[in-house]
Amino acid sequence: MQLVINQLSKRYPNGVQALNNVSLTIQQGMFGLLGPNGAGKSSLMRTIATLQEADSGSIMLDNLDVLKEKDTVRRILGYLPQDFGVYPKISAEEMLTHIAQLKGIQNAGERKDTVQSLLHRVNLYADRKKALGTFSGGMKQRFGIAQALMGQPKLIIVDEPTAGLDPAERNRFYNLLSEIGENTIVILSTHIVEDVRTLCRQFAIICQGELMLQGDPDDAVQTLEGKIYGKRIDKAAIDIYKQQYEVISVQMKSGQLSLRVYSDDDPGNEFIPVSPVLEDVYFHQIASKVDLVTI
Ligand code: ADP
Repeated sequence: MQLVINQLSKRYPNGVQALNNVSLTIQQGMFGLLGPNGAGKSSLMRTIATLQEADSGSIMLDNLDVLKEKDTVRRILGYLPQDFGVYPKISAEEMLTHIAQLKGIQNAGERKDTVQSLLHRVNLYADRKKALGTFSGGMKQRFGIAQALMGQPKLIIVDEPTAGLDPAERNRFYNLLSEIGENTIVILSTHIVEDVRTLCRQFAIICQGELMLQGDPDDAVQTLEGKIYGKRIDKAAIDIYKQQYEVISVQMKSGQLSLRVYSDDDPGNEFIPVSPVLEDVYFHQIASKVDLVTI
């Protein structure tokens, strides 16, 4: 199974071009979608999830025309939106049972089995009778993935699922996602760039509605080998460095700035070569469109 997005464009009525000729091929497994705020990630995910129309282009899931055969897509889709709200007074078990009904699981016994097995899978069985409004952020997101997994979807879309989770909750959530298996397409958008390297064998970077890069995270990091240099500088000197080098990131460390630059050749000037990370790939790709260094 593969998802092929071809020349997809979307302009909102207010004139914002959220997607500009985006073409992407997504294979089975975890696919990471990276991009700054406003890049178009949610617009892309909502379009794949059949929740909004594109202006032009196509999305094919094997032979299934996603933009036209919406009902068929919805039957095999699991979606966890960014702003996933819950009914605060209903218990996790009641809500999942209701969703199972909506998903067309008619048989009461089968419905019960499905709900119980999902509650176990996301480790919420012990909390199944508690009202959703009392759940922590991590529990809410695990509940969110349980509802997205209802009906054994073949295509799962999760939009920034770890926002607001602490590191332990995030790990637990990612372990859960990784278990979903290899015969499913899981599209994950996140702000945490290194998570994509850990979790995903395929990824893409979009910025201002345009696809900047797609491929294997390890390969992408490899292409920057020998091209990333680091140096500590005084904050006052940053503008001079910005003029002379392609600065891809700066971090404040004990009153000094730790600078990373991209350079095809050794820049000299006391820069030292450093090992590239996926964040370097990300910043290097979006540097042409976004001012990364505003101090
Ligand atoms: P991301 O998920 O990467 O943050 P979005 O897809 O939410 O990006 O947004 C892409 C651009 O489209 C942004 O400039 C955003 O303000 C704009 N946008 C998103 N949704 C709407 C909408 N319903 N109407 C008008 N503009 C929108």
